[in-house]
Amino acid sequence: MKIAKLSGNAEIFHTIQGEGKSSGLPCIFLRLSLCNLHCTWCDTDYTWNWEGTPFSHVNDTQPGYKKFSKEEQILEAGIEYLLEEISKFNCPNLVVTGGEPLMQQKDLAVLLQALREEKIIEHIEIETNGTLMPIADLDLQVDQYNVSPKLTNSGNPDKLRIRPEILDWFARSPKANFKFVCAAPKDLYEIEELIRSFGIPSNKVILMPLGTSIDSLDEREKWLTEICKNKGFRFSDRMHIRLFGNKRGV
Ligand code: SF4
Repeated sequence: MKIAKLSGNAEIFHTIQGEGKSSGLPCIFLRLSLCNLHCTWCDTDYTWNWEGTPFSHVNDTQPGYKKFSKEEQILEAGIEYLLEEISKFNCPNLVVTGGEPLMQQKDLAVLLQALREEKIIEHIEIETNGTLMPIADLDLQVDQYNVSPKLTNSGNPDKLRIRPEILDWFARSPKANFKFVCAAPKDLYEIEELIRSFGIPSNKVILMPLGTSIDSLDEREKWLTEICKNKGFRFSDRMHIRLFGNKRGV
């Protein structure tokens, strides 16, 4: 499997889930490389923002910023290695994140089945952008989908970021909840349109501010918490930014 590489190893770490429905839960994070989208504000662009890619990212204009070398950022890892690394933490909760984990879902299904059979993991969450349909073998292993459909603010073309038949499937899955990244109050119109179009139950909707610094979160949370109060949606902070800063592997 293609795993994000951190200091020569697979990016696997034990932490507190910082956002979404399981916020506060101690979890092991496994970060897979590769993504089929290219959000301009992506905070894990070392999973897709390769040298030579035609896609732009907000960091491209930062002095000294360079797009990533694919070879340097991907670790090819087998199932045995991953089982061993994940078992080191003695924690029953796993969050598979990316990138977009469903790009490697066949191999992922095999890994998750082995983690359950060997009683290394009991609870499995997958974070996904909601553009790829889970296969049955994967769905069997998953307890919770944290679906984060991308809005116009992500800079992805509409046809790429909204796949109606797939959002429809997730909207009907009892395992799915929907986390929307909000950059400005006007994003609410788009979110409500998606909720209406796909019949997403409002108790499965979570609104979270865009931001990789405490200042940017504080600024957006002022108006976002009011929207959540008025509309009855759940609010999510990005607790890991407050606890650890915008760092990898924490
Ligand atoms: S879908 Fe997620 S990982 Fe992919 S580019 Fe967007 S924010 Fe980054």
